Amino acid sequence: MPSATSYTVPIWTDGAAFPEDSTPVFAVTQANTGKTVHHAASASPKEAALAASSAKAAFQSWKTSSHVTRRDLILRVAAYYEAHASELVEYQMLETSCEEAWAKQNVDLATRYLKEIAACISSVNGVIPQLEKPNTMGFVFKEPIGPVLCIAPWNAALILATRGVASAIAAGCTVVFKASELSPRTHFAITEAFTEAGVPRGVLNQIQTRREDAAAVTEELIAHEAIRKVEFIGSAAVGRIIGQLAAKHLKPVLLELGGKCPAIVLDDADLEEAAKLCAMGAVLHHGQICFSTERIIVHEKVAEDFQRLLVKAMQHAGGHAGSAVTKSIARHANEVLQDAKATGQTIILGGPSSASNDLGLKPTIVLNPRDARIVDEETFGPSASLYVVPSDAAAIELANRSAYGLNATIWSSSMERALKMSRELEYGQVHINSISVYTSPTASQGGVKSSGWGRQNGRWGLEEFLVDKFVSWHGKSA
Ligand code: NAD
Repeated sequence: MPSATSYTVPIWTDGAAFPEDSTPVFAVTQANTGKTVHHAASASPKEAALAASSAKAAFQSWKTSSHVTRRDLILRVAAYYEAHASELVEYQMLETSCEEAWAKQNVDLATRYLKEIAACISSVNGVIPQLEKPNTMGFVFKEPIGPVLCIAPWNAALILATRGVASAIAAGCTVVFKASELSPRTHFAITEAFTEAGVPRGVLNQIQTRREDAAAVTEELIAHEAIRKVEFIGSAAVGRIIGQLAAKHLKPVLLELGGKCPAIVLDDADLEEAAKLCAMGAVLHHGQICFSTERIIVHEKVAEDFQRLLVKAMQHAGGHAGSAVTKSIARHANEVLQDAKATGQTIILGGPSSASNDLGLKPTIVLNPRDARIVDEETFGPSASLYVVPSDAAAIELANRSAYGLNATIWSSSMERALKMSRELEYGQVHINSISVYTSPTASQGGVKSSGWGRQNGRWGLEEFLVDKFVSWHGKSA
């Protein structure tokens, strides 16, 4: 693994590093040590356009590749991840200051995603519909949509980028992969894995860019005639910009955005287990997960006992929180807590840090907040709000009172009661008796409301990169 700061993550187009010496570079810094760990070449709209053209040229043959070629490629990438797991862990820790356990979990889940995507490829089949007109035949083929732009975040750096890139390539699309400026080396390991596994030239192209150039480079790509679909995983704020650009250029878009995930703890729940996993869901990876537990809603009959257990569990889970990826992410999380304090909310554990550059915030619980930013703003820090409600109906109403709709959890020993409630919740996923940070490569995943559009994982992820084509044959009339 390159430890020298002289290493520069390249721009990768048409199967090779983009060669111009004049390409500007930016420093990649490890927040918790303040050290520059390496540099990355910064794409301008010019390199972005080259990447799109490369993806367009490669699409002509990749779209006709057999499912066996694509399946075996993805399986070889999975084998590469298994063989290079320790490097993949180190890159993530180096760039995002994450805990080793989180980085390892990323490698494990990304590998399982690859295997599931490979397993689904041979089940992509069209249909032969009945037609009304006599002596005619119809076929609905599934075809790759074309070159796609995948924009991935740094927070589950390996999982989310691997899933997007692999799903598109498995479907027969080619890709311009816009890596996160915070984790370009981790993201380039994905491009390296595909290259080692034998992906043809131009099928996977990678660029990254300085944050100040992100808007221009992204617009160049979305507007480019080669690009047929955009996948964006990131904040709702940038998602809104991407959605508007995609609308302007009439490109379909798959959006996975932020969350404000509620955990509903009913009076028949295993309170100890619920407290432990709500706390872990709130602080894991310093709360920088779209699936983080940000709101905990407890039934009043068990509120006192649960609150005591939750405070204890949060104090204990704090040891697994790690630190923020950048000072600005930590500052934002702290500002939301400062606002809670300034608006007179009841803080029962932790609270804002007085140091403006604190990267490791204290686990914090705010009780029944009202009229404050923490009510429905994604904190992306190790904090949660705790609400007490009198009934299941009140819990549902409060959980749904959010702009977001990503993950929710319910804690109950009654499957019937929890399943009934799950159908009332306006969320893309509802997990019963589980930490909110849960997904399965074999099950559909996505957000509703401001958490996004479209579905991911396994066959659902493949479908996002396929389009139907209806072909009909008309015989002579008798
Ligand atoms: P972000 O939205 O701040 O940045 C995403 C990318 O957008 C960056 O890499 C940047 O290059 C680009 N960008 C920034 N400004 C832009 C602009 N004006 N125009 C075009 N592009 C621009 O998100 P992030 O910090 O990378 O990730 C954190 C966010 O992602 C959180 O909100 C989190 O909840 C969300 N997220 C969601 C999921 C999910 O599955 N729903 C998964 C992971 C992360």
